[in-house]
Amino acid sequence: MIYIIPLLLSYSLMAKVSAKWLGVGTILLWDEHQTLMFDPSFTTPGIFQMMGLEKFASNSGLVKQILKDHHPNKIDGIFITHSHYDHVIDAPEVARQTGATLYADRSVRRIAEAYHDPRIKIQDLKVTQVGKFKVTPYPRKHSQIFQLFDFLPGEVPKDFNFNYYDYKVGETWIYLVEHADGNILIDDSSGSRLALPEKKIRVIFQGIANRRDDQEILEGLVKTFSPEIFIPIHFDNFLRSYPDRKGSSLPFIKFESLEQVFKDQQREIRFLKPVAGEVVELF
Ligand SMILES: [Zn+2]
Repeated sequence: MIYIIPLLLSYSLMAKVSAKWLGVGTILLWDEHQTLMFDPSFTTPGIFQMMGLEKFASNSGLVKQILKDHHPNKIDGIFITHSHYDHVIDAPEVARQTGATLYADRSVRRIAEAYHDPRIKIQDLKVTQVGKFKVTPYPRKHSQIFQLFDFLPGEVPKDFNFNYYDYKVGETWIYLVEHADGNILIDDSSGSRLALPEKKIRVIFQGIANRRDDQEILEGLVKTFSPEIFIPIHFDNFLRSYPDRKGSSLPFIKFESLEQVFKDQQREIRFLKPVAGEVVELF
């Protein structure tokens, strides 16, 4: 008995759900049994690929190395916020290498099926239970680049063949991840308030690259849900190749101003700037 008490104590102190940000919008989320991955994006395009002269597909060797370095045990489900390359590029390859199911809308499915590999398990994106995680996608509008234009609008074409310009936005999703120990929102855009169910949200992951200004972030999900933790993502320079992008920032990101706005106006919310590859215990 004397041995069991400290064991029980240490178990109860352990985080039930942890996360790891791996750059851009890539998030690993896990509890003691299951692991989810959002927006796996490690491969960067070269100049000829950006000119549409060479095919742009996942770098399988890079994915293998990153999975070896970072995933806690296995990956069960992969979810994608939209099909721009910097959110979807490595999803089929992670699915192939880990056996995870890729939950795909039509655009994501067209990209994954272009690999013609039966080891890539694809299921339609819908409300999905993965162990204790219930994942619900809600549609949202992708924010405009510099509030000026929509980047690669439309669907990924039926005859997708790895052209850089065919990684079109497709549909954009925000994910509600419900778990017995707390709920999480994963949103890679900012802007427009959304019709989301009234739930207690403990953690928000939000892309900040395309925000109009800092108030837009506050007035959106933050004030609606008053989470305990706000974790900004998609602020690193995704044009740099992996792992050089670690610790980088997009040139226009103005990170400190957002952090200050939280300090001034949302003191009770923990503003947590993630470090790529480091574990964050959520709750
Ligand atoms: Zn995008």
